[in-house]
Amino acid sequence: MSIHERHRLSVVVNARGTFTPLGVSRSSAGVAGAVAEALPEFFVMEELRDRVSDAIASATGAQAGTVVHCTSSAITLAVAAAMAGTDPRRIAALPDTRDMHNRVVIPAVHVVDYGQSNLQAIRLAGAHVSLAGDENRCGLDDLDEALDEQEVSCLLLTSSRLTHGEPLDLTAAVRLAHRRGVPAIIDGAGQFPRTADLLATGADLVLISGQKYLASPTAGLVAGSRRMVQAVRAQDRGIGRGMKATKEAVVGVLAALEEWQAMDRAKWEADQATKVTSFVQAAGEIPGITAEVIPDPTSLPLSRALLTVEDAAGLARELEAGTPPIYVMTDRVDEGQLVLELIPLDAGEIATILDRLRVLLDK
Ligand SMILES: *Cc1c(COP(=O)(O)O)cnc(C)c1O
Repeated sequence: MSIHERHRLSVVVNARGTFTPLGVSRSSAGVAGAVAEALPEFFVMEELRDRVSDAIASATGAQAGTVVHCTSSAITLAVAAAMAGTDPRRIAALPDTRDMHNRVVIPAVHVVDYGQSNLQAIRLAGAHVSLAGDENRCGLDDLDEALDEQEVSCLLLTSSRLTHGEPLDLTAAVRLAHRRGVPAIIDGAGQFPRTADLLATGADLVLISGQKYLASPTAGLVAGSRRMVQAVRAQDRGIGRGMKATKEAVVGVLAALEEWQAMDRAKWEADQATKVTSFVQAAGEIPGITAEVIPDPTSLPLSRALLTVEDAAGLARELEAGTPPIYVMTDRVDEGQLVLELIPLDAGEIATILDRLRVLLDK
């Protein structure tokens, strides 16, 4: 009996990307094996955390790293680290930030909702938010003005396809913060393959969801300067307690990082590109569909299939209503477009999607 049958759960085809409500990603057999090996064992957790710091450093080029429960908690704990540092009294006082610099500056174009608003993840540490610019535009002048306020503890930036408005130059933004002695944190949750690029902006911390493109168990990877990573680790004795990484998550991250470093990345990218190209070719032959390959808008090394149809919202609904339910990206339905991410899908699942499209459009 499969795990889905045993617990009476739906089998789904996930062409929606690293989507939390569908279980995010598929871990490899190697990662799953490492997790299974870790569960019945004891560890000195500080040793495990030292090892994962070395592994994150060697995979990303950061000075140090640590792992917390997920990126949402990594945002809260990075902000806590910026406010309380490693001071035990301040760590114990959070979320009471009375005698601390407790303003977090965030460009309004970087306010995103990944199921929760990132503003709440910031406020959970006891910090107050100062928005720079408006939701359409945050220029460097707007940012400089916000950073000029009193009591600023850090600058939070988001690198994601969820951001809106005109793109902001992250390197220039980090430089503005550093000119005032303010640390800069980048939430790059869905950007694991770009971690080194995000660190190259000069950011003090880069936050990554391990369960997204690293395909580890759920984990928030925190990569950055030794001092700031140390301060994030120190929050364990405070609000970080409920946001800790489990032993099996840390071991899973170690295994996934090892696989990532051993992997032939050029071959992986070429294989993924072929998968998208042949899907687009087959989908394009279905009457009523115009199909094309689109690159990731944030320069992740992957592409997706873009389908233009007459009634995109209706088609998405019908795909989900079938057996098995097929989930696709629906943020462009208003323009008559559906986007499909194929990375975790096998040939059988891709054939299922094409068959379903043929049936639904042949009416
Ligand atoms: C997914 C996501 C998060 C949340 O990550 P979790 O690891 O699920 O907590 C935060 N920020 C952005 C931009 C995301 O895409």
